[in-house]
Amino acid sequence: MKQKLDAVVIGAGQAGPSLAVRLAQAGKRVALVERRGLGGTCVNDGCIPTKTLIASARAAWMARSAASYGVDVSGGVSIDMKRVKARKDAVVQESRESLASWIGSTKGLTLVSGHARFEDARTVRVGEDLFEAEQVFVNVGARAFVPDIPGLTSGPYLTNTSMMDVDELPEHLVIVGGSYVALEFAQMYRRFGARVTVLERGPRLIARDDEDVSAEVRRVLELEGVDVRVDMKVSRVEHAAGRVVVVTDGGRVEGSHLLVAVGRVPNTDDLGIERAGIELDARRYIRVDDELRTNLPHVWAVGDCNGRGAFTHTSYNDYEIVAANLLDGDARRVSDRIPIYGLFVDPPLGRVGMNEAEARASGRRVLVGKRPMTRVGRARERGETHGFIKVMVDGDTKEIPRRGDLGIGDEAVHAIADVMYARAPYTTISRAVHTHPTVSELVPTTLQSLEPLAARP
Ligand SMILES: Cc1cc2nc3c(=O)[nH]c(=O)nc-3n(C[C@H](O)[C@H](O)[C@H](O)COP(=O)(O)OP(=O)(O)OC[C@H]3O[C@@H](n4cnc5c(N)ncnc54)[C@H](O)[C@@H]3O)c2cc1C
Repeated sequence: MKQKLDAVVIGAGQAGPSLAVRLAQAGKRVALVERRGLGGTCVNDGCIPTKTLIASARAAWMARSAASYGVDVSGGVSIDMKRVKARKDAVVQESRESLASWIGSTKGLTLVSGHARFEDARTVRVGEDLFEAEQVFVNVGARAFVPDIPGLTSGPYLTNTSMMDVDELPEHLVIVGGSYVALEFAQMYRRFGARVTVLERGPRLIARDDEDVSAEVRRVLELEGVDVRVDMKVSRVEHAAGRVVVVTDGGRVEGSHLLVAVGRVPNTDDLGIERAGIELDARRYIRVDDELRTNLPHVWAVGDCNGRGAFTHTSYNDYEIVAANLLDGDARRVSDRIPIYGLFVDPPLGRVGMNEAEARASGRRVLVGKRPMTRVGRARERGETHGFIKVMVDGDTKEIPRRGDLGIGDEAVHAIADVMYARAPYTTISRAVHTHPTVSELVPTTLQSLEPLAARP
């Protein structure tokens, strides 16, 4: 049976539900199609579950470190992975249920369960049902990339999705990949008590970030006992007798479990995208313009699948951009967005804007301020003095270059981000009074001691 609708939203990730609800509230008849759990990656196997697990891992780490705070935890610390997982499952379930009740209580919005494929540019098929719509919004997200490594798939291996089902402590978790997803799991499982080895094929971890940031994150992980190995190109994986061996050009690493975390690919391969005539780029991300419209004027792509962001906050911002343009007459654009993200190892990294290499290449007269966490009262009081704050400003315009950079301290980064959005001079912060004792209070002080970036090695 074919139903005629005003809009179909494919994927209930971080943009889809909000968009579907706004469209329905605007009086449109809308179907939201989801093939798996409401909330997409973030809710089911991304941000929310990993940060919930990280909180358990931090509790374990704090308990083990208790003596250094003058607190005795007698009887030692043991981890019940089944309870750790149950706590994570409960938090995920709560998020899903709250989304379900929001969607279910929205007039004009129908939730359709199943896999959606385009039949043509205006028709979407879900099983036997066909939906013809005036407007289609694609929010299909991405999934873990599984590289074509000989032997990998001939035995068990984990991705961020199957990691969510683990309720036992691996004896030795070997992680292929040295970026965000890999490092969060690395520290988490080390803190749970597993032996952890990280194999990164490049010369350093989190290669998109500055060398000093990358080196500091590596140092923190190694201090906790994570075995970090760089320049390790994997050539083969062997599975035998319940063990896994990762063969690299730097030697063989044997473990009990293998996590592959080497990037993401968009879910655009089984969407009938070619039948609809929607253009993809070379990496199969959906091509969009600055308002997130595809080459078809009635189809938009939002979230990870458009390649313009890879975070929950960018997906949600995509929803805001589309809703503002379509429903509010407010011309918002992706290019207004300043890149910002966090890495939730402990202590966390918060970063906004340009990295040091980009700043050097920009041709600006860049000044930099840097302050180690050992000089931040809040960090000393908490006994968490790893890391630093780092900010770059344009020495001529006094603006924090359209982008900026801040080191470890994830919440403090927003003080910088807001001033960047206001396009205000850095003196707006350097003369601001922040609360004591916080990490943010050192941001003004850091900006009072700027030196030319060029002079730094
Ligand atoms: C381990 C991990 C940790 C992360 N941590 C963070 C973090 O701390 N902070 C952060 O900002 N980001 C984080 N991310 C990234 C974040 O989860 C994603 O950027 C975000 O979820 C993307 O949202 P989305 O709306 O684009 O797509 P998704 O959330 O992936 O949702 C897409 C939805 O579409 C559905 N779908 C796909 N194809 C079809 C189809 N054909 N028919 C019907 N439904 C379909 C999928 O089932 C899914 O529910 C993390 C990611 C991972 C993997």
